Amino acid sequence: MRIYADHAATTVLRPAALDATRRAAENAFGNPSSLHTAGERASAALADARAAVASLLGAAPDEVIFTSGGTESDNTAIRSAAEHGKATGRRHIVSTEFEHPAVLRTLEALEKDGFTVSLVRPDERGIVSAAAVETAIREDTVLVSVMLAQNEIGTIQPAGEIAAVCRSRGALFHTDAVQAVGHIPVDFHALGADYLALSAHKFGGPRGIGVLLVRDGAPYTPLLLGGGQETGRRAGTENVPGAAGLAAALGEAIREMPAESVRLAALRDGLIARLTEIPGVMLNGDATMRLPGNVNVSVPGWSGENLVLRLDALGIECSSGSACCSGDEQPSRVLRAIGRTDDEARGSLRFSLGCTNTEEDCSVIDSALRLIFSET
Ligand SMILES: *Cc1c(COP(=O)(O)O)cnc(C)c1O
Repeated sequence: MRIYADHAATTVLRPAALDATRRAAENAFGNPSSLHTAGERASAALADARAAVASLLGAAPDEVIFTSGGTESDNTAIRSAAEHGKATGRRHIVSTEFEHPAVLRTLEALEKDGFTVSLVRPDERGIVSAAAVETAIREDTVLVSVMLAQNEIGTIQPAGEIAAVCRSRGALFHTDAVQAVGHIPVDFHALGADYLALSAHKFGGPRGIGVLLVRDGAPYTPLLLGGGQETGRRAGTENVPGAAGLAAALGEAIREMPAESVRLAALRDGLIARLTEIPGVMLNGDATMRLPGNVNVSVPGWSGENLVLRLDALGIECSSGSACCSGDEQPSRVLRAIGRTDDEARGSLRFSLGCTNTEEDCSVIDSALRLIFSET
């Protein structure tokens, strides 16, 4: 039996999501733009998915734009705010040092286009405070982009407080909520963000479908040009089966969340307690302000990638802190940002627990790591 403990990279497809995807593919196969009955059926299935997503996340249906995933949603939100900045003469953007590459690479592209970007450094717990964000905001700040939950260390950011600061300072606020949605409660209107990105495959939905929530009235510029789909905001024939699968996965994830988040947090805390008993092993990120399933530790003197491969040989699938830069032995940028040394940041391991994991898995993970350490 292999142990999959890499649910932050992608999740197992929920049977309910597979079922909804297949049913939409079979029964709502038409093009939603077609006038005939098959088109109408597809259009109705898409409207159902949109309404479900909106009500599950505290948004209005016309604030839901279906995209190809988290990356496209992040790119679209940031580009939309940047276009607004160009039109209003504000070319400064505030973000953080530990955003996902979908945000950081987009910001780098904007820097080449005349924007100035200030990246706020998280504190050593892996939290970016609203006060730190406020200090970075200038007269000409058009956008603030801070993720809701960090993908490597799982720390949860005070996004509501940051949104309030942005509103009072006249800046737009985008949050990459890809790791948060389906795992912790998220209410778009209560949060007060202008843009919120999410992706189905991070909560048991299919790959290649996501959502960008855009507050009614927030500036918007389409990334993809073509047909008039998504009320002219995202061209391309709609992925109706994907949208149906996303909505089904989100509904189930949110219904299961009260019990599942408690179960996972107990597994997480148990695994953290076991691992940090091993001499030299240290927890990365705040112990409580973190996603229920995230365990991230540093093992100084070790290469995270080497540990990932050795654990894989023992049947355990996890990732090194630097999952997005696999292939090189660079220390994790995220861990460097929270003050870890190069050595500590190179020897990091992320176990992201999900629906398949049990107490027994955590015990096996602990024993496997102890075995690896004892062999050398
Ligand atoms: C996975 C992830 C993304 C990218 O989402 P895709 O749907 O894979 O494009 C963006 N941001 C965060 C925080 C993620 O974890």
